[in-house]
Amino acid sequence: TKRNDVRNVAIIAHVDHGKTTLVDGLLRQSGIFRANQEVQDRVMDSNAIERERGITILSKNTAVNYKGTKINIIDTPGHADFGGEVERVLKMVNGVILLVDAFEGPMPQTKFVLQKALDLDLKVIVCINKIDRPEARPAEVIDEVLELLMDLNASDEQLDCPFLYASAKGGFALDNLEDEPKDMTPIFETILNYIPAPEGDPDKGTQVLISTIDYNEYVGRIGVGKVDNGKIKINEDILLLNHHDPQKQERVKVSKLYEFEGLNKAEVQEAGIGSIVAISGIPDIRIGDTLCDPSNPEAIPFQKISEPTISMNFMVNDSPMAGQEGKYITSRHLRDRLYRELNTDVSLRVEDTKTPECLKVSGRGELHLSVLIENMRREGYEFAVSKAEVLYKADERGRKLEPMEIAYVDVPEEFSGTVIQRLSERKGELQGMSQASGGNTRLEFEIPSRGLIGFRGDFMTMTKGQGILNTTFDDYAPYKGDIKYRKQGSLIAFEGGTSVAYGLFSAQDRGTLFIGPGEKVYAGMVIGQCGKAEDVELNVCKTKHLTNTRSSSADEALKLTPPRVLSLEQALEFIDTDELLEVTPKSLRIRKRILD
Ligand code: GDP
Repeated sequence: TKRNDVRNVAIIAHVDHGKTTLVDGLLRQSGIFRANQEVQDRVMDSNAIERERGITILSKNTAVNYKGTKINIIDTPGHADFGGEVERVLKMVNGVILLVDAFEGPMPQTKFVLQKALDLDLKVIVCINKIDRPEARPAEVIDEVLELLMDLNASDEQLDCPFLYASAKGGFALDNLEDEPKDMTPIFETILNYIPAPEGDPDKGTQVLISTIDYNEYVGRIGVGKVDNGKIKINEDILLLNHHDPQKQERVKVSKLYEFEGLNKAEVQEAGIGSIVAISGIPDIRIGDTLCDPSNPEAIPFQKISEPTISMNFMVNDSPMAGQEGKYITSRHLRDRLYRELNTDVSLRVEDTKTPECLKVSGRGELHLSVLIENMRREGYEFAVSKAEVLYKADERGRKLEPMEIAYVDVPEEFSGTVIQRLSERKGELQGMSQASGGNTRLEFEIPSRGLIGFRGDFMTMTKGQGILNTTFDDYAPYKGDIKYRKQGSLIAFEGGTSVAYGLFSAQDRGTLFIGPGEKVYAGMVIGQCGKAEDVELNVCKTKHLTNTRSSSADEALKLTPPRVLSLEQALEFIDTDELLEVTPKSLRIRKRILD
């Protein structure tokens, strides 16, 4: 049976191409937003880091009504698929809107999500946005989109997709460029006519696959998913099938059921085929679980949640950092915060280590973990992290396998040579090279995850902050051999009250200290050496030959043992040379300044 009064679509767009503005426009036209102020409340991109890094991390839902049809609009995560979320989200919809800036054209970061959508045979509506921009070049951008679709092996039907033009900011969309601008109607009509209504079997018994989990301190876990078959009602017995272990079945009751309405959730008593619902009252609900009829317990097949590929140790600082107000956190704070994250992030793993102050956190690539670290630091948590380590696996024949990532790079042409060289040193293989807008060169690499560790900061330095780097996990592959970093001149060493630290300095990863087992490095020691705090960050660092003194502050440490700069030879004694990464121009400059 078709559910004709519902359409489920996902929006795929590069950051800043106008997704939020477009959704605001659709909401406004459907009468949900009247007050201007509310319109400006950008809900879709609430995570500040997403914007800064040019990625969308979490998916959010919105619903609008048009001519009696409920249109659920689901935001897709950007290229960064930390745990198979893209696929789960796309499984809830029957079509996607590919939103593309009329000047910039399609960006490589959207490729990953688009590919998944094409693979799932979803209908595609292409919407060229920002046609009001003076430099807009809609005709060329359409060619670029078609080229991209062909590259991604779109079917003939997918290539024959509708193209719309829009100025989300101007509040209108057009079927043809020469049409008179009016409102968003062409988008609504195209969704209604081109995106198939969801289908399911009303007599089969309830089946709802939980695609994402929301977490709220007051109500706990909220499962979000689409009703595939049957219907779901509140206060009725229902079976929760565990995704990891289908034998594990639990009889539960849905205490509250919601559908999306505008930017909010509206409570409903029941929901039928094709409805996207939010469910609370089931404390153990997890991503991938199926809610189903007790008389017909059948799980919906579901792509395995991806395993972590990289790990870091998170450690509490047992004394405040130099020059900062002491923001103590205890190991319990840290643990609680990390465990809370597990409620919504299925691809994250948190494990205890032998030391209570230290937790091993594993995730999907360095970016995944660094987003978490940044979020926590913004919340005021202070802690140290170790260098990321790759999680290896073995195949049946015992061969060592390592995680591989795809790195998309956009750089001004003059830097492309350096970037290719650096990534090749890190075992990256160039897969493609093309022209991008604004004189940029676009590069695509396949590279071991370990080759990307610590690379982001160097990349920003070598491209003078103008490069864009996006990475996404690809697969496990046979180990590519050791990476030989250029080591010469890459050391800076200090001796302080409690330990000897060495490392590369970069303006990136501010405040990140890597420390040796059970010991700490005081930021003060380092800053004391270099003078200018903004310049100095300990990027790669490990300590050896530690003294036993423990000082409660950097000042005290400095008094006990005044820091001194070691010669390269002296420093080498303290250094585990395998740990070193390559030199960046910045670190060389700083080193020179110190050694002079
Ligand atoms: P998102 O990151 O995809 O959600 O993008 P936003 O909706 O936040 O838009 C990014 C920027 O582009 C904002 O400054 C918008 O005002 C601007 N913008 C969005 N749509 C249009 C448009 O149709 N024309 C122009 N000129 N600017 C737009």
